[in-house]
Amino acid sequence: MIDKNNLKLYKRLLIYARPYYKAIGLGSVLAALSAATEPLLPALMKPMLDQGFRFGERSPLIWLPFAVVGIFFLRGALGFASTYIMAWVQNKIVYQIRLDMFAHLLRLPNTYFQKYPSAKTINRITNDVNGVTSASTTVLLTIIKDGVTVIGLFAWLLYLNWQLMLIAVTVVPVLMISVRKLSKRLRRLMHAEHDNMVMMTTAIQEAISNQKVIKVYGGEAQEVSRFDRVANYLRGILMRGTVSAALGTPITQLTSAFAVAIIIAVAMYQSAEGMTTIGGFASFITATLMMNAPMKRLADLNAPIQRGLAAAEHIFALLDEAPERDTGSVTLDKVRGDIVFDRVSYRYPEAERDALSAIDLVVRPGERIALVGPSGSGKSTFANLLPNFLHVTGGEIRIDGHPIDSIHLTSLRQQMALVTQEVLLFNDTIANNIAFGATRQLSLEEIRAAAKAAHALEFIDTLPDGFDTLVGEGGMRLSGGQRQRIAIARAVLKNAPILILDEATSALDNESERYVQAALDELMVGRTSFVIAHRLSTIENADRIVVLKEGRIAEIGTHAELLALNGIYAYLHQVQGDAKPAAAATGDA
Ligand code: ADP
Ligand code: MG
Repeated sequence: MIDKNNLKLYKRLLIYARPYYKAIGLGSVLAALSAATEPLLPALMKPMLDQGFRFGERSPLIWLPFAVVGIFFLRGALGFASTYIMAWVQNKIVYQIRLDMFAHLLRLPNTYFQKYPSAKTINRITNDVNGVTSASTTVLLTIIKDGVTVIGLFAWLLYLNWQLMLIAVTVVPVLMISVRKLSKRLRRLMHAEHDNMVMMTTAIQEAISNQKVIKVYGGEAQEVSRFDRVANYLRGILMRGTVSAALGTPITQLTSAFAVAIIIAVAMYQSAEGMTTIGGFASFITATLMMNAPMKRLADLNAPIQRGLAAAEHIFALLDEAPERDTGSVTLDKVRGDIVFDRVSYRYPEAERDALSAIDLVVRPGERIALVGPSGSGKSTFANLLPNFLHVTGGEIRIDGHPIDSIHLTSLRQQMALVTQEVLLFNDTIANNIAFGATRQLSLEEIRAAAKAAHALEFIDTLPDGFDTLVGEGGMRLSGGQRQRIAIARAVLKNAPILILDEATSALDNESERYVQAALDELMVGRTSFVIAHRLSTIENADRIVVLKEGRIAEIGTHAELLALNGIYAYLHQVQGDAKPAAAATGDA
């Protein structure tokens, strides 16, 4: 049960418990004292029955009823105090671990989020942390309380009648074996329950996020039957768990009944020989029965310990995930924005070939670079390299002469504003979404000005709550185009020297795109900008257009130059011009 690996886990958990050692000590002492009152009850029973009741005369033990109340009061008060203290420590530890996990989560690299499903991480922070406390304070409390109770009762029994005691003890192994068998089965079921829970959560998550697809493609029955399978299987597991747990009680009771029967028989014999009294016998039986519950709990301890250790493994697996590489030591103030791509290549982990290769590009401060190319040509990958979300796997990117790996990640990212294609907002107000990440308190005027620049004011002012409108999970109460304009307003507020727009206007209709484009054109003045655009009409006035094909720079030049080249760009332009006369018309403007 306690091997080297478990010991290591316990040691790490102890680090979290260390600040509370005084409270834990106090809680333990109180728990021990509370448990120590247990044998007092059977101990009172002997004088009560032997001398407490006399026919025709006043009982000499008039203090006894008071003592009973007193004992229960003492036990209750001590028990409450110890439970309170331990729960306090436990929740403090849970809170601290959760905080550490969440903070660590935000330091994890992009690759972590691509590797694991979100449900796994969520489960670790919400459930596993709870599980781990059962391995710590709850187990500790049980060991102390029930351990002391059992030892106390044991001692009393031994003192009372050691011969009887030895006979009673013979049932203990039987009890232990049956309890052990049942807990093993329970643990197996617990694992199955856990796995099934995850499957059920996944089914629900997918049904929620794909609800429209399910409805349109008529997949309701299919999804319901999938959920039915999982839910019904879970029901079966829970039933089997209940049977195992419920069997425990009658089995222990039956075993105890055997013990009691033997004790009664032996006590009868002893009483005939004048070796025991009624009080002594009653006290003995009571103490024996009182041992039952704590013994069962002690025998059951292995299950919470195993569950807790498994949970601890999950927790530390997350905490041990390597954080984002931040090797930089340079802190930049505000860069000019001269950016050099020096033979840059990138390959996704486990990918067969480079997503980007041999990218050579020298960008002047304030230059406006457009990136175009068919989907899958590496445009988004390119955009992810600059903020170091993805680490170049070959070559080097330099900003103002500093290799980006030499710059502190926070400092590097301070230099850029990023607007992506899929904008997910925080479930908060519009104002807070625009001001997100601001290092100082912003006035409503500033937020309003940014919204105006992003052409978001038009729709915000029509909302009943205006800037105080809650946008819903991910911002789903807004349209894609509205979300993008919020994201652009955020970028306006950040006022960073480098701007990265990855299809930032893709969700807009032609007309609003024209407005937003005007706003972006203004925003790009004096900033080094990278604009990835699907609609070529929006990037025609870029200083240079980089055409990517299969991860390589295929063409580079101005709109006019590339048209004259009559290559990929000219082809793309022609295709789009034919398909969208409106876009071509705005392009001429
Ligand atoms: P674009 O934005 O130009 O459409 P991307 O930069 O998103 O293209 O993708 C470039 C290539 O890299 C594609 O072939 C794509 O399949 C691959 N790719 C993108 N993301 C990943 C990833 N997380 N893991 C593996 N391959 C990826
Ligand atoms: Mg893309």
